[in-house]
Amino acid sequence: MNKPKRQSTRLVHAGNHPELHHGVMNTPTYRTSTVLFPTVASMKEGSKKRFDTFYYGRYGTPTTMALEEAVADLEGGYRSVSVSSGLSAIVSSLLSFLKCGDHLLMVDAAYDPTRNLCKGFLAKYGIETTFYDPLIGKDIENLISDSTKVIFTESPCSQTFEIQDIPAIAQVAHQHNIKVIMDNTWSAGYFFKPFDHGVDISIQAATKYISGHADVMIGIVTTNTSQDWEIVKRTSSYLGYCVGGDDAYLTSRGIRTLEVRLERHQDNAIRLAKWFKKRPEVKAVLHPAFEDCPGHEIWKRDFSGASGLFGVVLNRFEDERISHMIDGMELFGIGFSWGAFESLMIPTYPSKIRSIGDWNTDQKYIRIHAGQEDPDDLIADLENGFERLNGKA
Ligand SMILES: *Cc1c(COP(=O)(O)O)cnc(C)c1O
Repeated sequence: MNKPKRQSTRLVHAGNHPELHHGVMNTPTYRTSTVLFPTVASMKEGSKKRFDTFYYGRYGTPTTMALEEAVADLEGGYRSVSVSSGLSAIVSSLLSFLKCGDHLLMVDAAYDPTRNLCKGFLAKYGIETTFYDPLIGKDIENLISDSTKVIFTESPCSQTFEIQDIPAIAQVAHQHNIKVIMDNTWSAGYFFKPFDHGVDISIQAATKYISGHADVMIGIVTTNTSQDWEIVKRTSSYLGYCVGGDDAYLTSRGIRTLEVRLERHQDNAIRLAKWFKKRPEVKAVLHPAFEDCPGHEIWKRDFSGASGLFGVVLNRFEDERISHMIDGMELFGIGFSWGAFESLMIPTYPSKIRSIGDWNTDQKYIRIHAGQEDPDDLIADLENGFERLNGKA
């Protein structure tokens, strides 16, 4: 009895407390601003515990707490803080551990808005950013100064899918008392367990796989210690970040099927990636499960699988041809926020967001999200697409 349950089981049950809700299995949607107190004395008492009880809607409700409990369990951390988007999770975690005069090491292939945040916003408040090569590993030590307080990682990287050596980076960081923050959205916390690899703070754009149905904007920060949780919760409260009851409810509902969805995304993505690899129009497939992806060996060591998002480098084609191909896709939508059931395809331009290394500006990239459709239908759609790419349709 009471043996720790396996991940599949915990995904189904974590955060649910029917005993607190008249036996209702899913924690209901609490929509509230006002929480009433029986007496002035209890109101004053509540103020001291406003992060742990129910005090005012912005600080949390039973619906958001149930979600946070389930995500903390998924990520393997101490406790989570839910906020209004993936980007607010990034803002909140960075502002939690940085102040004016501090130095941030930011991975060069970060999600584009994360990069913009450093250059456009953090810089304005006196926080200096140095971008580093995603494959730097332990050599990150050379970039550390006395004022470095945070190393931000994202693995695999946005658009180019390099896998970072998080344990090597974390080991160096901790020798210098530096916090390691990771954007763990790609793995959804399912294929990569950040706290087993030295991460201090893990963020999820739960907008993507965790909610999983392209109908919610939500972000979640998970910490490994109670001290860090306090800091992140306090920062998020200063900033006024909070999550509506309906969004928290939908995200908890998404978690229950995360495993079956991700396994399907994984299988479909690998099927599609293999198809791309065989095509003469394709120069490279950027997918961590394939040997030629930079960091593949680290992926094999640290990850238990791969989700549905990957990149394709095309041989030289005019932009118009590529647009013609994408415009005509029947099953692949043109849009952002991957992580839901549908397949997506967009052109990407890594050279525009990279400052380290030699970026061939002529190279043509597309990004694929493999949805949950039948893979043979997706491949038939791709075959027609490549006819258009080749000017035959
Ligand atoms: C989408 C995304 C975000 C931002 O999430 P939003 O909920 O859209 O703000 C952050 N990081 C990564 C890797 C993402 O793909």
